[in-house]
Amino acid sequence: MNEAGKNTALIKDLTLFFGVFLLFTDVFFLITGIVYDMPVMRYVLYVKLVLNSINVFLILKKHYLVSTVIIYTVILAFMVTGMVCVGTEAAFQLYALGMLSCISYNGYLHKRILKKELPLALIIAIHVLCYFGAYIYARVSEPLYAVPESGVNIFIVFNSLASFGIVIIYVCLFHNVAIGSEEKLEQTAMIDNLTGLYNRHYLLASLEQRVQSPVKGRWLALLDIDDFKKVNDTYGHNCGDSILRQAAELVRGVCRDCIVCRWGGEEFIILSGEQGSGTELLETLRQRIEAEEFRYEGSVLRITVTIGAAVNDGDCTVDGWISQADKNLYCGKSGGKNRVVV
Ligand code: GH3
Ligand code: MG
Ligand code: MG
Repeated sequence: MNEAGKNTALIKDLTLFFGVFLLFTDVFFLITGIVYDMPVMRYVLYVKLVLNSINVFLILKKHYLVSTVIIYTVILAFMVTGMVCVGTEAAFQLYALGMLSCISYNGYLHKRILKKELPLALIIAIHVLCYFGAYIYARVSEPLYAVPESGVNIFIVFNSLASFGIVIIYVCLFHNVAIGSEEKLEQTAMIDNLTGLYNRHYLLASLEQRVQSPVKGRWLALLDIDDFKKVNDTYGHNCGDSILRQAAELVRGVCRDCIVCRWGGEEFIILSGEQGSGTELLETLRQRIEAEEFRYEGSVLRITVTIGAAVNDGDCTVDGWISQADKNLYCGKSGGKNRVVV
């Protein structure tokens, strides 16, 4: 499974866990509604149970956005119910804090999936209004039900755990989404679009590291497709693109333990890997490319490549290393192409 797939799976798992967790809290509060004889609490919980069950179904159907909206509304309504029924002592107001993370995650999903801005100011205004409205009401009027102190303590513990749980779950979701996007960005920044090979930017960064801790015998090769302009001129640019992709695949296949990058145009750079395969590998690669039948829309094409390589002598700079390989490539080209010069 790729990174994006893993992220989606984690979002699904966490949201599902949350949905089931809410069902569990419904059962808990329903029991307290029965034990402490609170009919209003019970009626609200019947509705909450139905909504939360629909919610689990929505999560399974991957409607995370609708599901989050339901979760938010239901918990807010329940917070008000709890404060009205039991009073402020029972810590139902903590949900107002917990739900802030839910609002921000919902805003994010809305923007990412529906490409729409959530009216966050309005939502927060409703949120704050509900909180203060319920809080003030609960402070100035007696709770609907007189719950014994042990019951209030149970509510405090449960509501605190649930509120912190909500914050933790949404923070985890956000964390995961943020890390996932960063990784995706990093990947995009170092991969060449056409061939899927590393790009110049990535190669320069890894060369910089390797030059600082040189390994004896490590080589760098500059590979240039011979007469590639003719391919474009004869078969068109799309064919040229396809040949570049096929050539990149072949180079990657032959130079398995090397770093292969598209240096630009029809030029690739191959940097020998930790295993330290010798430069003979480059001759094998040249022969493989020469023998390969490249295909494009029913046509079979053959290409050759010239490769200039330079072995790191231990104290060269990145520029010096590349320019030595470039000189050898130039020698190969002027010597008749389709050859390896080390
Ligand atoms: P030489 O043997 O001397 O290397 O000749 P060449 O024709 O390969 O070299 P030249 O530098 O004259 O031409 C390179 C060509 O590569 C020109 C350009 O159109 C083509 N090219 C560069 N990048 C791309 C690309 O992304 N797609 C396609 N289709 N062609 C590209
Ligand atoms: Mg070239
Ligand atoms: Mg060329």
